[in-house]
Amino acid sequence: MPELSVFSSTYAEARAKFVDAARAAGARHHAYLHPREKGPDGEPLYLDVAAAGPEDAERVLVAGSGTHGIEGYPGSAAQTAWLLGGGARRLPKRTAMVFFHAHNPWGFAHKARGTEENVDLNRNFLDHAKPYPANPGYTEVHPIVTPGEWNDASIAGIFRGLDAYRQKVGEKAFSTAFNGGQYSHGDGIYFGGQREQWANYAFREAVAKHVAHAKHAAIIDFHTGIGPWLEHIYLCFHAEGSPARARARAWWGARAVNLAGVTHKALADYRGVLTDAFAAALPRAQVTSIVVEFGTLKREEVQRANMSGRWLRYHGEKNPVLARKVHAEFCEAFYPSDPKWRAAALEQSREILDRGIAGIGG
Ligand SMILES: [Zn+2]
Repeated sequence: MPELSVFSSTYAEARAKFVDAARAAGARHHAYLHPREKGPDGEPLYLDVAAAGPEDAERVLVAGSGTHGIEGYPGSAAQTAWLLGGGARRLPKRTAMVFFHAHNPWGFAHKARGTEENVDLNRNFLDHAKPYPANPGYTEVHPIVTPGEWNDASIAGIFRGLDAYRQKVGEKAFSTAFNGGQYSHGDGIYFGGQREQWANYAFREAVAKHVAHAKHAAIIDFHTGIGPWLEHIYLCFHAEGSPARARARAWWGARAVNLAGVTHKALADYRGVLTDAFAAALPRAQVTSIVVEFGTLKREEVQRANMSGRWLRYHGEKNPVLARKVHAEFCEAFYPSDPKWRAAALEQSREILDRGIAGIGG
């Protein structure tokens, strides 16, 4: 079993391990401090960047963690393990490996998916000066997915309502309504925000500083929650037939583009995702991006956990005893404590990073 000490139970612990590992590996470290928010124990919050390889490398692979806060713990472990494992000494020529630790540090520290403003950072990267894309389906499901009480009866009611809606509109429209992202209900789920989040600015600033010089740039964005237990799946948002999609396939195999193992019956039309912002920030580079999801629970259980996270944010204080129990279940859905799960995620992350490095370095 791989060394599991790279996994952490708090943001502060994960950050300390990452920063120490970066130092030990001789990587350059740069920290972007959140100017306002703090962690649950008053600790400062950062987007941390560790860069290994030449500062002016023409090929730069970024691997990021924590776009969805709580989902960052396994990604953080993967980053720290790579730095401790001597990866920096094995990089191909003219190639840099750059880790972005905690894209959404507030969610990472508070063990939530969203930002301090209940915003899904992975729906926030769009032009906020323009009218937001409408998601009329979400308006229909909002009353269903936002109960004031969290108990067996209210949860059963949610799933009865969602099933009825799915029957009415079909699987694809259901997915887009449910998790495609919405800009109309600030206290809802998959809310993309009505302004840029600090984490959005910090990410783009870090890309400009650490990646903009590259001729070839790639990003792996580590997530959890889609896919089978002990396995990982890929989501590739490059257009069908594009050279970028062909590169993703060449580097990570057919699974990178054929949705193998994806537990969603139909993928939503996502808007404002982080990998799009990465490409937009690098107009002169050849860009390849991939999202990796380490599978956890069944889709309905992950949906349930996601809605419970929203209930916790808006109603949890009324019932602290229940809230603690619900939050523990929420954490298990996005960051399982089972050592077998953690070992599998770590092992798989090594291969994903190795393939990315070989791909961009070749
Ligand atoms: Zn995610």
